[in-house]
Amino acid sequence: MPIQGPGASPGAVCSSVRLRRPTDTDLSALAGRIGGDRVSASPESVERYARDESTVVEARPWAVVRPRCTAEVAETLRWASAGRFPVVPRGGGTGVAGGAVAVGGGVVLSLERMDRIVELDPENLAVTVEPGVITARIDDEARRHSLFYPPDPASLESCSIGGNVAVGAGGARAVKYGTTRDYVLGLEVVLADGEVLELGGKNVKDATGYHLRDLMVGSEGTLGVITRITLRLVPRPGRRVVMLVPFPSIHQAARAVTAVLGARVLPAAAEFMDDVTIEAARRYLGRDLPGGDAAGAYVFVELDGDAPAALEAQMERVAGVVQGHGALDVLAAEDPGQQERLWESRRCLGEALRAWGRQLGKADVVVPRARVPELVEAVQGVGHRHRLVAASFGHAGDGNVHVNLLRCDLAEDEWERRRSLALAEIMKAVKALGGLPSGEHGIGVLKRPYLHRFLPERALALMASVKAAFDPLGILNPGKVV
Ligand SMILES: Cc1cc2nc3c(=O)[nH]c(=O)nc-3n(C[C@H](O)[C@H](O)[C@H](O)COP(=O)(O)OP(=O)(O)OC[C@H]3O[C@@H](n4cnc5c(N)ncnc54)[C@H](O)[C@@H]3O)c2cc1C
Repeated sequence: MPIQGPGASPGAVCSSVRLRRPTDTDLSALAGRIGGDRVSASPESVERYARDESTVVEARPWAVVRPRCTAEVAETLRWASAGRFPVVPRGGGTGVAGGAVAVGGGVVLSLERMDRIVELDPENLAVTVEPGVITARIDDEARRHSLFYPPDPASLESCSIGGNVAVGAGGARAVKYGTTRDYVLGLEVVLADGEVLELGGKNVKDATGYHLRDLMVGSEGTLGVITRITLRLVPRPGRRVVMLVPFPSIHQAARAVTAVLGARVLPAAAEFMDDVTIEAARRYLGRDLPGGDAAGAYVFVELDGDAPAALEAQMERVAGVVQGHGALDVLAAEDPGQQERLWESRRCLGEALRAWGRQLGKADVVVPRARVPELVEAVQGVGHRHRLVAASFGHAGDGNVHVNLLRCDLAEDEWERRRSLALAEIMKAVKALGGLPSGEHGIGVLKRPYLHRFLPERALALMASVKAAFDPLGILNPGKVV
């Protein structure tokens, strides 16, 4: 059964303050302050914002507010504070942890209309954007100046940069370039009471007190609403090579990635797919894929740099290592069109798994990278025990594995039972391997039940104090993270 709302009281977040549902009069008052076309409670609007890409969390918000500027966000939060109305910030709605869904009821504050690239500053290697900018546009803009914005979540054509900052999104290139967090120089944030705060700016270094900016990154809309972002850019590498290596088994593939990293090669990306995800891609794309039936796993390696000879030497080193670990073949491409073709099976996985599984039980776990083979083995064991199709793929280079349990044709009750037992066992295995419940998707509502197993009681209490300091009434994204 989907996790649903509204109905449940969101008041539990802050025990002393009761949150309320705005009446039609309250909504009209807000419309009068920021503009009638910014506020809607029509059935079509609330239906459109009832889900994210988790596929299992669902709740129609009470209303949707779509501001066009920071002043309108601030006005909305002043209105919400005064009325004690819960507010759920939202970007592209591609999150997979239920973070942007108004579980328990609330008003969705969608930043989609704030989508301007404000300034690209080549001298300071910085770009300033509004939160609703679709992530892919940032690197498109940077490319025109021979600059590079490396974070590349696979959803980059549909997610927003505000959502990326709010969850601390990663991507395939994190192994070499880091995640969104590593590129945030400055933020403009609207606090729960409507005050606008600037955190950071264009300074590269900053040792000036506690880093509130860094606290905002990954706060999942629970501490403030991000309304403007200044991001660091880097020089664009001149050349790029993509390699696709099929292996007979996931164990050989995972060990090969560890060996590549141990061979003094730092790839821009090192990704893997197991046999179930290859099958999902094959069904979805409707064609044979490299390695044919013998392929039990894929490894993708992307290398980048400027000096042709150095890139060539790295390619040879990677080829030598993977061949020594049982690679069935080594495919490499420098031509952008051919590179896209090599990446295609990896890039289509979101849609491919959904088309096959209908609903997915997702975990975005992370373990120390040398322990990826043990994790994949544990996931396969859990899948067999609970008779679920279990697919693993992800960022082998940084130990971040996306586990997907597929519902297929299971009846709802049985699916729910098996999914929750299997996910609990996977989390147990992750903990035993020294890992964490989220590498890049965030906690949202789905991973909250596991948080206390991974973090000390005292750390959770400190997080709750931070939340109370930023948002004493508990109106911002109640029921998420802590
Ligand atoms: C096919 C597919 C592939 C994906 N691949 C990756 C991947 O490779 N790496 C990765 O990290 N993720 C990936 N994701 C997950 C998702 O795209 C990311 O989590 C992304 O950062 C969410 O951005 P969004 O704009 O869609 O945010 P939303 O889903 O709208 O919101 C996510 C969270 O951020 C908060 N939020 C949004 N905007 C703001 C704001 N302006 N201020 C404050 N809080 C805000 C919301 O309240 C919510 O808690 C993938 C998802 C899909 C469907």
